[in-house]
Amino acid sequence: MISEVFRSHDTIVAVASATGRGAVALVRLSGPDAFAIAAKHLQELPKEPRVAHLCEVFDGDRKLDQALVTLFPAPNSFSGEDTVEFSTHGGYLVPSSIVAALTQSGARQAVPGEFTRRAVLNGKLDIIQAEAIGDLIDASSRVMQQTAINQLDGRLSRRLLQLRNELLELEALIAYDVDFPEEDDGPIPRARIERAVDSVLQSLELLLSTVPVGELVREGAVVVIAGPPNVGKSSLFNALLGRSRAIVTEIPGTTRDALEAVIDTGKWPLRLVDTAGLRETEDLIERLGIEVSERYLASAQVVLACGEDARSLEHTRNLVIQRTQAAIIPVRTKADLAPTQEQLNGPGSAIAVSAATGSGLQDLLAAIDASIDNQQGVIAADLPILTKARHRKALESAHAEAEQFKRAWATGELPISVAAVHLRTAIAELEELIGTFEIEEVLDRVFSSFCVGK
Ligand code: GDP
Repeated sequence: MISEVFRSHDTIVAVASATGRGAVALVRLSGPDAFAIAAKHLQELPKEPRVAHLCEVFDGDRKLDQALVTLFPAPNSFSGEDTVEFSTHGGYLVPSSIVAALTQSGARQAVPGEFTRRAVLNGKLDIIQAEAIGDLIDASSRVMQQTAINQLDGRLSRRLLQLRNELLELEALIAYDVDFPEEDDGPIPRARIERAVDSVLQSLELLLSTVPVGELVREGAVVVIAGPPNVGKSSLFNALLGRSRAIVTEIPGTTRDALEAVIDTGKWPLRLVDTAGLRETEDLIERLGIEVSERYLASAQVVLACGEDARSLEHTRNLVIQRTQAAIIPVRTKADLAPTQEQLNGPGSAIAVSAATGSGLQDLLAAIDASIDNQQGVIAADLPILTKARHRKALESAHAEAEQFKRAWATGELPISVAAVHLRTAIAELEELIGTFEIEEVLDRVFSSFCVGK
């Protein structure tokens, strides 16, 4: 079992930086024997903690590297254990040869996420914060980065701890009733209990209301460019990307059916989709029903319904509307060409863009952001966002338990001591979620997706 590995108090080592050519790499060594093991490979162990020292690193007589070596005595290290960090030269061989030497001297190669796991076990982080480190490393947009950094700062943990404390207070309040059940209206008025449970329910609902935003933050909003052949969809796709080329990431594996790329210049990360593979078909607009388009249209948050004139705009819109729940933004393409009378009389709501001159592109991006804002509703700026299914499930269970307690309390259908079990279960859900209480099993699940050296 994986937990057996973690229980042992051995000293672990790993390359914490990404593999490959680079100026520097970081080798991390953590555990009770970290200093003793490091000492075997240095002429002298640095005397001053938390100060980088330039040292020669040896394997026996063989010099492996010149590295900056820093000692972090427990508990003032990331993992909470004695830790040595070697900032070595990068590349494939140097860091791995140092890891091999340290392993020869008694360290064990760390498994993925093991340093962070130890940080949790040593009370340096809770599980919510540990997850935030994973999210920060995986962040592919600024909003994801911001959400993860807020979570690492403890914003979500504090909110959950506060909820747990409210539930504990409620439990303490009803303890009086459990002890003196014959008293009709003891010193704690029933209405006070009802208010307290309602307040917890509301807080849970508020947090759960951030689930769709969390999904959007994690996945990005799917924005599909739709319209007849030659209307300028690909040109629009390239023009929108071109304006933000520095922070565009191509998503591999998606180009066979459609071109997809992430734009991260606005408020929300956008997954812009051009169904390029379908461009060669006889008449795309008649074939919107084919599988790829249908799939993208069905999952889209926003569809850019393109047309060069009022008639084709209307035609695209009618076809799209049957196939998506998404917000539809009419886009009049090739706005640089002299408008015909028909175009001038066309629907005023369409945003006129030109891939050739770049006009209208900023307006279009702003309209996309506004449309997503509209779908999400207003989220208080300081509200932590739930980004993981684990968060949602735990809060939904806690909510269901609190609801059951409320019903039992209101109807008196269960003895108070039995109703109180619902409160206890709700508290346990939150404790497992935060993870500073009963954690081994939760740790296995959370860290199974981490990379080595983190
Ligand atoms: P798609 O089939 O809808 O993807 O259309 P394309 O992007 O391939 O464009 C079709 C034709 O329209 C090409 O010849 C483009 O050069 C031209 N085109 C696209 N956008 C513009 C534009 O903004 N202005 C002008 N003048 N021509 C454009």
